[in-house]
This record gives sequence, C-alpha cells and structure tokens, in this order.
Amino acid sequence: MTTPTTGCRNTPVLRERGQREVFCGLTGIIWLHRKMQDAFFLVVGSRTCAHLLQSAAGVMIFAEPRFGTAILEEKDLAGMADAHAELDREVARLLARRPDIRQLFLVGSCPSEVIKLDLSKAAERLSAEHAPHVRVLNYSGSGIETTFTEGEDACLAAMVPALAATEARELLLVGALPDVVEDQALDLLARLGIGPVRCLPARRADDAPAIGPNTVFALTQPFLGATHDALTRHGARPIEAPFPFGAEGTTLWLKAVAAEFGIAPERVDEVTAAPRARAEKAIAAAAQTLRGKRIFFMPDSQLEIPLARFLTRECGMEAVEIGTPWLHGPIHGPELDLIAQGPVISEGQDVDLQLDRVRAARPDLTVCGLGLANPLEAEGLATKWAIELVFTPVHFYEQAGDLAALFARPLRRRAALSGLAP
Ligand code: SF4
Repeated sequence: MTTPTTGCRNTPVLRERGQREVFCGLTGIIWLHRKMQDAFFLVVGSRTCAHLLQSAAGVMIFAEPRFGTAILEEKDLAGMADAHAELDREVARLLARRPDIRQLFLVGSCPSEVIKLDLSKAAERLSAEHAPHVRVLNYSGSGIETTFTEGEDACLAAMVPALAATEARELLLVGALPDVVEDQALDLLARLGIGPVRCLPARRADDAPAIGPNTVFALTQPFLGATHDALTRHGARPIEAPFPFGAEGTTLWLKAVAAEFGIAPERVDEVTAAPRARAEKAIAAAAQTLRGKRIFFMPDSQLEIPLARFLTRECGMEAVEIGTPWLHGPIHGPELDLIAQGPVISEGQDVDLQLDRVRAARPDLTVCGLGLANPLEAEGLATKWAIELVFTPVHFYEQAGDLAALFARPLRRRAALSGLAP
C-alpha cells in the first residue's frame, strides 16, 4: 500500500479543552491485574471507585482477586484520622494473608488526590518495610488526571525508575498485551532472528526487564506517552513505527524493529507471508461491510489514530473526524504520515461541541464511550464502544480480522434492524 504524498502529520489540530466524557484510569486495573500475575492493585479511594472496579471486573468474582479498594471513610476525608497509619495497617494485613504478592501498586483516585494523600511517600515507606519480597509502587488512576488507558501508562511509567540497569543490547516490547497475543509477537520476532526480547510489564516480578543505553523499545500501544518519556529519560531509545493493528500496521511495525537489528524488509516479507495472507483475507471479509462507510472517532482510548489509519487504508472507510485525548508527536507521527488528508484531527474534548459535529456529519459509525453511545443510538446513529477495543485482543496478524469485524458488526446489526443491506 502506498504512502499518501501528504499525510496528516502537519494538518492543523483542533484542540478542545472542555467537558469530557471518559472513564478514569482505574479501569486499566482490569487488564493489568490479569497480565501481572504476582501483582496487587490497591486503590486508595471511595466506595464509588470500588463499585467501578467491581462492576467492570465482575468476572473475577470467583477468583482470588488481585485488586481491591482501601476505602477512605468520612473521617479520613475530613482529616480526622491518620490515613497513612491506616494504609500501613491495611497493607500489612494484605501482605500477611497473600504471600504470593510480589508487587503492590498503591493507586491514587479522585478522593485521595483531593485530600492530598501522598502515596509516593507511602510507597517508599512500605517498600522499605516489605523489601525484598515485595516492591511497593504508586501511580494515579484518578479521573481528575487520567482517561481510561492512561491508567496503564501511569502504571508502567511508575515501574521504569525501579527497573535494574543493564548494558545489554535488548529489545523491549512495551504495553500489556494478552498473553496469547504477546506470544505471537515473540514468535514472529524469534523467527526473524531478533532477540533477546523482554516485555514491560513482565508477567512476573522476577522477569522484570532491565534497561540502559543499549535498550531499544517498541511500543505496542499508542497510549503510553509517559512510559515512552520515562524510558527515554533512563537511556533507552524508541523505535518509531506505526502500531501493529491490521496486516499493514503489523508488517510496518515488524519492519521498523527488523531495520534496527539490521534485518532487511524482504526478509520480513518472506517470514510473515503466511500470517499476512491470512490477515488480509480475514480483513477483506469485514471490509465488504466497511468499504465507503464514514466513521467519526470521539476521543477516548488513544487508539483512535492507528485505528483510523487501519480502517481507511485497509478497510476502505472514510474518516470524518479523528479525535484523540492526547496527540503525542513521536508516537502518533508515523501513523499520521499514512492517513491521507481530509479528516479533522482533534485533540481533547468539548463534548457538546463535538456532539454537534457528529450530528451535522451523521457518520455511518461513531466510536465513543459508553455514556455517549446510547443517546447517539437513540438518534439513529450506529456506535462502537471504544472500551471494547481495549478488552478484545486486536494486535498483530492473527487478530486483524477480528479487529475489522468489531467495526463491521454494529453496521450489520443496524442494517438488519432496518431491513437494508449492510
Ligand atoms: Fe470516580 Fe475518581 Fe474513583 Fe474514578 S477515581 S471511580 S472518577 S471517584
């Protein structure tokens, strides 16, 4: 597929800073706790935070959970109790009961931030107390500071300063992928002869990567701006590439990594021929429904720009507006280069103004948060929940067809309901 002569990298960005409608960063715990098998996420928050986690992660109800909420009661919020002493007691109780925990994350919330509870101090104190068996780190998942995928970014960025130093030449894959998808990526890289490869986050604390001046890293998620900057500050070097969504994105991502290790693009084409063909065939099936349809992305997951690239280039869709909570030049630049000029590129949100633009454009499909989907559906507009894109395995060749199908499904459903062909 050819690169457009003028991509969107230099397109003027519509920046809006008004009311926004997104989940908070606590949501990331739902996929992070599955990935890090000896970690525990202790949210220091309110009953609202506990309810959010419980309803979003209801499936975990029968398992020994790897997350919980230390609830700040009214007396804590009023400053009448020593929240630090209570937190120490809670943590001691938890760690005594759960010797399998090797990493403990104290996760800040809106209430803990409002009362200015210093969780970094608490993490330092508790780390000293429970080392070397348990490392205690902290980050914020508060809705004041983070949108839902930024919780993972804040978590990984908090891990970077605690990583050991190394001089080894290693590739670091950065982003919490489902294990089966991560294994596929590691297999492709091994078949290309690229290694050693380490992952952040690692599945277990003992496998945590080390970093240094000879570490190169490749992000697998486009929402890891703070982690990207933290790794760079610690001497690691980023590999700039489009993200591994779709057949083209996966191939370009692999070629960028391969080039760093002196492997020719033709070798990548050769090694990936079979899975690439499978991906292209699966995408083509969904593209029958998607071709020529207009899509509007509201800012939510930070996956919007790579997904717009995938849907416009590989599925024949037309992007009307591509909204993203944040635009990070070095991370999103290679994607914007591939998107032909035309769509509005917007950063941040002023929700009422953006809804006016959706209503004026009447796109065939709007990607948005749960709170906006129902009202838009009621107005006759088909929607796709952005959060599904983070909970569903969508990276690399074997998932490319599923990714396209996620967008085709709401269009087929709407067509079936109205008795029209999709
Ligand atoms: Fe709500 Fe804030 Fe708790 Fe998130 S962190 S659930 S936005 S109170």
